[in-house]
Amino acid sequence: MNDFVRVHSRIISKSVPTIQNPDVRRALADRIRYYNELGIYDFYRREGAPIETVEAATEVAPAPEPISQPEMPAKKSITPKPVESVLQILTPNPEQSVTDPIAGLKLIREDIGDCTRCKLHAQGRKQIVFGVGNPHADLMFVGEGPGADEDAQGEPFVGRAGQLLNNMIKAMGIRREDVYIANVVKCRPPGNRTPDRDECDTCGPFLMRQIATIKPKVIVALGAVAAKYMLAINAPMSELRGRFYDFMPTGARASDPNWQGAKLAVTYHPAFLLRDPRQKGEAWKDLQMVMKYLGLKPPPKEPV
Ligand code: SF4
Repeated sequence: MNDFVRVHSRIISKSVPTIQNPDVRRALADRIRYYNELGIYDFYRREGAPIETVEAATEVAPAPEPISQPEMPAKKSITPKPVESVLQILTPNPEQSVTDPIAGLKLIREDIGDCTRCKLHAQGRKQIVFGVGNPHADLMFVGEGPGADEDAQGEPFVGRAGQLLNNMIKAMGIRREDVYIANVVKCRPPGNRTPDRDECDTCGPFLMRQIATIKPKVIVALGAVAAKYMLAINAPMSELRGRFYDFMPTGARASDPNWQGAKLAVTYHPAFLLRDPRQKGEAWKDLQMVMKYLGLKPPPKEPV
């Protein structure tokens, strides 16, 4: 056993290069599915073994393409591609063994545990704010992180901004209980500051797993932090809004026959709309685009 090191997906997610060759990835995925069907989920990697040896084992000509992990700000793609590393395929997340999203979300929450993975755990958080809503939702809202009210109550978007979000959801003809709401980071940044890049990078994979488990039709990114993190695009809100993006969360199975990803729209964060109510009309345009896609109608006006 000394020659082997057990690999945990959360440890290797950033350190293992991506297999670029689609034939190799498909061959690996098929092989892993075969092992999973046999009930084998844990795999081992020989310490220090170059990743190319895994490619060679599939008897496919080695792909000489460069392997790189570009920094988020430099990436300028409007249709983000899923990133499947070899070991993400080799070590499926626990929720991938269940089909029920309620059970899947529970497994992700258990995996987070009493998390100390990023520095936010030691900066005054009261509790982890995982997410709330319908695990079968067609529509998901994603903000950047919990504030003071959310930290106190353990639920995202419950303060004044949450009230406004509730009103926005109601104006779409649905209820808060119909959608799922989560944030990029699960712990409150001190003083409600914007989460740092390293905090988003550390916590964000849990959001990706929530999305892959819920499989929504549409995701609405609330504000620039959530939008830039999910899309890996460094652009102003004026450029990010007003269109749909094809979105597949990092690590999701691109071959899933039940879900080919979500449409992602960007709108203003409700906290920003509280500070600048003149932008509410613009946000309503974004929501109308989503409503049209989902076939939602505004509720009839209540009699005066
Ligand atoms: S923000 Fe996320 S990664 Fe950081 S401590 Fe909280 S749960 Fe863990």
